[in-house]
Amino acid sequence: MLWTLLLVVAGIVVARRFGAGVLAAILAAIWLAGVAGLWQRHQGGQGLMPSDLWVPAVGLAALGAGYAALIGRLRRRAREQQPAGAGLTVARPRGRAEPPAPPTVSPVQAASVREAMPADPAQPLSDAELDRYARHIVLRELGGAGQRRLRASRVLVVGAGGLGAPVLMYLAAAGVGRITVADDDTVGLSNLQRQVIFSTADIGRPKVEAAAQVLNRLNPHVGVTALVRRIGAGDAELVADHDLVIDGTDSFASRQAVNAACVAAGVPLLAGSIAQWEGQVALYDPARGAPCLACVFPEPPAPGLALSCAEAGVVGALPGVVGGLMALEAIKELARIPESGAGAGLRGRMLILDGLWGDTRSVRIPRRADCPVCGGEHSINGA
Ligand SMILES: [Zn+2]
Repeated sequence: MLWTLLLVVAGIVVARRFGAGVLAAILAAIWLAGVAGLWQRHQGGQGLMPSDLWVPAVGLAALGAGYAALIGRLRRRAREQQPAGAGLTVARPRGRAEPPAPPTVSPVQAASVREAMPADPAQPLSDAELDRYARHIVLRELGGAGQRRLRASRVLVVGAGGLGAPVLMYLAAAGVGRITVADDDTVGLSNLQRQVIFSTADIGRPKVEAAAQVLNRLNPHVGVTALVRRIGAGDAELVADHDLVIDGTDSFASRQAVNAACVAAGVPLLAGSIAQWEGQVALYDPARGAPCLACVFPEPPAPGLALSCAEAGVVGALPGVVGGLMALEAIKELARIPESGAGAGLRGRMLILDGLWGDTRSVRIPRRADCPVCGGEHSINGA
């Protein structure tokens, strides 16, 4: 018993002094020696004894130390991807506790939370952030640099409905630093079949208020601003405050209004739409040569041809799939992954999903020189 205790203490001292990797190597050597000894006894015709249990015990300890060494190595690698200044903050406390979740914030208070978020992509990620975003940081295409870009990003999500729900939740979970969400609607019972950010108790509350509360609980590193209103064509100034606008509204008029504000502000617009069993996603960006929404949909649809979800119906999981695609494209754009040459975004392309037949395809969408919204001066500068 005393010996076991002494050996454990010795193991801890070795791990602290030389690292878990060295301890794992020593334990593995002892285990191999033990296995060899047992094998020799077995060859000599002797059976196993209860006291031989130390061999598998040491083997397990070697595995544990090896695992600890691997995790430590991954963490060090993530930290090495931080900018040069990060090396100066070696004295960071070892504790990995998350900051305490903020109390429920009202939309008005949320604005001040937003101001407190770090916006400098050069600022290193904290230990809590390294742990939270570990699966992002190990991605070669994203890494620590991409995660810091996400944290420095500002996104405006228009519409907190079926598409807005997964977009908001995945962007907050992914660590997009500042999220503004605009919607003038309240939660209704028939929303709950697909708008998974809300629960039954939210019925009657402003959608943005209920959504902001969920996002604040999900990730205290994200600043959320909730606007109980629609976004109109005259909102270019608000739009210009963001790096990307994500539109999940479901009427032609509101989509055209958001597009006009984005074109005026020169901010890319990631728009998705769904009806019945089908969905589509595209990135409109006339400031960088791609079409705007009005280039592709210049005229309002004929009455009766494009019904709203309330009239035509929509299958419950469809907004989850299409909204998830939108969140994925947003993460790629904000982390500048297509720009780096790894992968491609949906700039000038539309991804179409047919949920009934389990099929997807993507089509090129051309720019219109005579587009009433993005034509004129933009088409001269456009690529
Ligand atoms: Zn256009």
